[in-house]
Amino acid sequence: MKKRYLITPGPSPVPENVRFALAQEIIHHRTGEFRAYTAQASENLKKICKTENDVLILAASGTGAMEAAVANVLGRGEKAITIEGGKFGERWTELVKAYGGVPVVLGVEWGEAPDPKDVERLLEENPDIRAVYATLCETSTATVQDIEAIGKVVRKTGALLVVDGISSVGAMDMRTDEWGVDILVVGSQKALMMPPGLAFAAVSEKAWKVMEAAERTVYYFDLVKAKKSAAKNDTPYTSAVSMVRALCEATAMIVDEGIDNVLARHSLLGEAIRAAMVALDLRLLSKAPANAVTAVVMPEQIDADQLRKVMTEKYGVSVAGGQAQLKGRIIRIAHMGYMDKFDMITAVAALEMALVEMGQKVVLGKGVAAAQEVLMRG
Ligand SMILES: *Cc1c(COP(=O)(O)O)cnc(C)c1O
Repeated sequence: MKKRYLITPGPSPVPENVRFALAQEIIHHRTGEFRAYTAQASENLKKICKTENDVLILAASGTGAMEAAVANVLGRGEKAITIEGGKFGERWTELVKAYGGVPVVLGVEWGEAPDPKDVERLLEENPDIRAVYATLCETSTATVQDIEAIGKVVRKTGALLVVDGISSVGAMDMRTDEWGVDILVVGSQKALMMPPGLAFAAVSEKAWKVMEAAERTVYYFDLVKAKKSAAKNDTPYTSAVSMVRALCEATAMIVDEGIDNVLARHSLLGEAIRAAMVALDLRLLSKAPANAVTAVVMPEQIDADQLRKVMTEKYGVSVAGGQAQLKGRIIRIAHMGYMDKFDMITAVAALEMALVEMGQKVVLGKGVAAAQEVLMRG
């Protein structure tokens, strides 16, 4: 027998009551009974996203909501700033191109956060920018972007601020309304303790005005249509009935714990992992580390993917690897969603054991002890 520990930045572990909700009988979606589930889930999502805006529920993975946030906003030939700095930032650029838009790319070194002054400069140089696409937590590099500061720059213009909060909402502070985020997109399988399959979009009044006037090339992901249905706690097409019932459970857990307590827990777990890595003389990839996931650079002689193989096959502990140019160079340890102190201890212990197995000179328990010191504060 081998127990499995899923410590990856999506999918992430799902609590038993949420999994049990998925097993309930299927009810029809055009009923008062089901609409009550939709209403409850949307209310909870508003609290988690710190917004009074409508939060739409889409049947898609997170990228579906990203696609909706491009397709409903940009007409052909229209310009948008895309902030890169990792695989998911690059996805914004790809989506803008896919819909015939013109990306004005803000290139950022992987592992670094964008400078809001650069966003300001690009907005000044290009007064015809329709939207700025940013990412709260760039999961590929475990880096946080300063959305509050970017929001201050964007709100002075007619452009919309669109933020990918797929991996971060529920793990890191996202003050949607206060920071002036016009479209926030979120995914179910990261910090929200859900299986993959749902995506969410919180949309501001400013964004609705732009969308209603835009020349939109979209059908299934038509957010204006989705808004009309959402006013009746409905969706234009068949709702993901079981997933929405599970969403009620998962979001209620977050609301019951209190969103700020949930964020404090993530911050403690993140700090513990970072302290453990420093104790093990391992370098953090990010200069602005996120509290949802930590990216750790492996020593030169270690193939990170080989190390992950040892962790999974020998100890049952799954962490993520690097993407694109970071493949084989980093591992990413998640601290998002249904995770607590001992998931962190497990991850660090398995990492230490795998490093020793691969011939590294590591004092077993050194990282674990550093994590324990931090975790005892919470
Ligand atoms: C996981 C992730 C995505 C992609 O979401 P899918 O659910 O795989 O479509 C996009 N952006 C960020 C920041 C992510 O972490």
